[in-house]
Amino acid sequence: MRYVSTRGESPSAAFAEVLLRGLAPDGGLYAPERWPRLSPAASATPYASRLQETLDAFAGPLASGVAQQAVAGFRHPDIAPLKRLSADLYLLELFHGPTLAFKDLAMQAMAPLLERALVARGETLLLLTATSGDTGAAAVHAFAGSSRIRLCVLHPAGRVSPVQRRQMTTCTADNVLNLAIQGDFDDCQRLVKALLRGRSGRSSVNSINWGRLAGQIPYYFDRSAQVAGGPSRCVIPTGNFGDAFSGWAARACGAPVGSILAAVNRNDTLALALREGVLLRQPAQATPSVSMDVSLPSNLERLVFEAADRQPEAVRNVFAMLDAEGRVTLPPALLSRLRQEVTAVSCDDEAMAAAMRRARAEYGEIVCPHTAVGLAAHWAAPHAGPSIVLATAHPAKFPEAVSSALGEAPAMPDPLRALFDLPERCETLPPEEREVEAALLRRFG
Ligand SMILES: *Cc1c(COP(=O)(O)O)cnc(C)c1O
Repeated sequence: MRYVSTRGESPSAAFAEVLLRGLAPDGGLYAPERWPRLSPAASATPYASRLQETLDAFAGPLASGVAQQAVAGFRHPDIAPLKRLSADLYLLELFHGPTLAFKDLAMQAMAPLLERALVARGETLLLLTATSGDTGAAAVHAFAGSSRIRLCVLHPAGRVSPVQRRQMTTCTADNVLNLAIQGDFDDCQRLVKALLRGRSGRSSVNSINWGRLAGQIPYYFDRSAQVAGGPSRCVIPTGNFGDAFSGWAARACGAPVGSILAAVNRNDTLALALREGVLLRQPAQATPSVSMDVSLPSNLERLVFEAADRQPEAVRNVFAMLDAEGRVTLPPALLSRLRQEVTAVSCDDEAMAAAMRRARAEYGEIVCPHTAVGLAAHWAAPHAGPSIVLATAHPAKFPEAVSSALGEAPAMPDPLRALFDLPERCETLPPEEREVEAALLRRFG
């Protein structure tokens, strides 16, 4: 499989290059040159087999045998179990990995893929990652101690939950550098893009990296086949539009995904763009669903590319204008195609808390604030037929948000409790490229 840039001004690349670069040299995102057809969804397909098939299709021989390694650290035999709440409502539990959020599903596969690509080339790599909390924790877990990879994680200071922060900052491995950036997630993401652009030997494990999205396709496949009543609507708590685009991609590969509903919090750029046809750069707002506090969803560029029938000029027009003006009006034909592909519902903090209480009262479920945004969107947008709401993190990662909505803290699993006894290691910096470069130099030389 070869990969092309959504902006059309970089040569096509092999999977290993895509993984090692993150962003294409022209500033675009890599997309597979065509969507492979995977084997039909079947309720009995083991998760690891689907993961292996998916990785084989996207990564080729580099992926051989990776799936077993990738699922080894999960605490549930089904890896991503589907839980039936009612006749037409299901939760897809994606939080049984080592750091208790869905980011583990892809990161556990990316780590061995990256190691192999680096060994084959005799190279080392600096990974830069912006995080709203969960990606950083998953990356620290997956890459700590690697001899070929140095990892720098940028999180917005004071805007991740204490559990999320400690999952990152209590790591003692010398190849991991944690930076708390005095800004929001979008500042972190902008810094990562600036630090990557035009530099070799650097990549990112954010969802701008296709490797991440490929690893999120498998859970959309066979779980849908476990639901009676036809293709399900997938309701996806959304920040950077990575998980939601993986759902779109899964459907392009043959998964029985019905419609896609992106659930967003008050950071509603996506919902606004689909409703009013205007894509805006606006400041991120802090909400209890911190991992979705993203103002500009990077992976929307991938959907624009597909909705524009893969014409890179159309993508460049939208995103160059957005860069220059901070806002862009989407051409009507493009907008109507985007609306056919996904819908979006935004909900405020109170609707999130109300959904958390309703899940507790009606189904005895304590859900994390992100999952609660998904449930709120599900209830706000009635649908005939089954819906699968993605449960993207374990509630114990967000005890403050859960207690404030329910008046009751979620049970804290032992590995999380232990984090509170460990020292933290982290530097706080202003959101400036040269400050981050200097910190990288101090730590890694
Ligand atoms: C990252 C994250 C999301 C949002 O996923 P995107 O791929 O950025 O849209 C939702 N919920 C949780 C718990 C997350 O960690």
